[in-house]
Amino acid sequence: MKKAKSGEESNESGASAPALLSMDSWLLALYSWFSSNHRTLPWRETRDPYRIWISEVILQQTRVNQGMEYYLRFLDRFPDVRSLAEASEQEVLAMWQGLGYYSRARNLHAAAQQIATSHGGLFPGTYEEIRALKGIGDYTAAAIASIAYDLPYAVVDGNVYRVLSRLFAVDTPIDSTQGKKEFQQLAQSLLDTTKPGLHNQAVMEFGALACVPVSPDCTCCVLQPQCRAYELGLVNQLPVKSKKTAVKELFYTYLYIHSDNKLLLQPRSAGDNIWKNMYEFPLIEADRLLTAEELLSHPLLEQLGELTLHPTPVDFTHILSHRKINVRFFQIEPNELNNTNHNSIIVTTKELHQYPLPRVITRYLEC
Ligand code: SF4
Repeated sequence: MKKAKSGEESNESGASAPALLSMDSWLLALYSWFSSNHRTLPWRETRDPYRIWISEVILQQTRVNQGMEYYLRFLDRFPDVRSLAEASEQEVLAMWQGLGYYSRARNLHAAAQQIATSHGGLFPGTYEEIRALKGIGDYTAAAIASIAYDLPYAVVDGNVYRVLSRLFAVDTPIDSTQGKKEFQQLAQSLLDTTKPGLHNQAVMEFGALACVPVSPDCTCCVLQPQCRAYELGLVNQLPVKSKKTAVKELFYTYLYIHSDNKLLLQPRSAGDNIWKNMYEFPLIEADRLLTAEELLSHPLLEQLGELTLHPTPVDFTHILSHRKINVRFFQIEPNELNNTNHNSIIVTTKELHQYPLPRVITRYLEC
């Protein structure tokens, strides 16, 4: 790791080092900024570990504006650990519908059941116990432990990586094993143990609102006097990432088979790692999207008997973190809707909301 040390006088480029990075001065500036600039968010108004947990999980891959609506709806339906533990997985997934990354919802559900059986329904109060819950990693455990219980654990998320890498001009790749270790140690060494919850929230909020990924307004930044990246002209080069995520391309031809306000749905397989246990239209997955002509001779359609195939499909692309899914929807109206494919079920359009559907399906239905 190349990192500017406190009191360092020169660097490889010959530029003069900034003034001593005083813990007190940067923290005072940060807290003052946080006090005036932080967003008013419902999960900041509580010390309830359950609510903080739900907010942290929702916000892992979701923007605050979108996450807020889900957070409020989720807590309205599942106000505590017990109500979440007692719900069916299908109901939890249905509440999560549209948020994506459904393993988060499955893990929340499993962890709530863990709390109900192993902790008598009371949210555990130590870092180790929280970290042992299903789906909770170092970041979430530290966030809950520090914000709910003021335990001295530093959080390191994307915002923290960015703020620390710039403040200290650290160029170790943040997606390397070494980088993760170094940034965790750095964050922990900087943690204000007198108020860890406030400290963690202030650093994350500063990264989210001020030290943003692209074009941060460094000229007006309260931490600029202590910022090594600003001093060295490295702001746009930090943080460093070593590798690009490999993206796999998939081709899904969906069959929207319906008749008289009824349609066919089928569950994704339990072993699926995209939308496990969610429901979708009958699907033909291939190395390309199928044409109407190819579809007419497909065994799936032959099972349906007499039908009308609307020849113009609806196409779009759905991007997930590691996958690019090319989707095509064909609308098919059989003379009689039969459940000939044993994996499918017939549901009415009124019942549709009871089934957790991936965003690609709801997006098509909204067209
Ligand atoms: S000066 Fe710029 S890079 Fe440095 S902490 Fe402030 S916003 Fe971030």
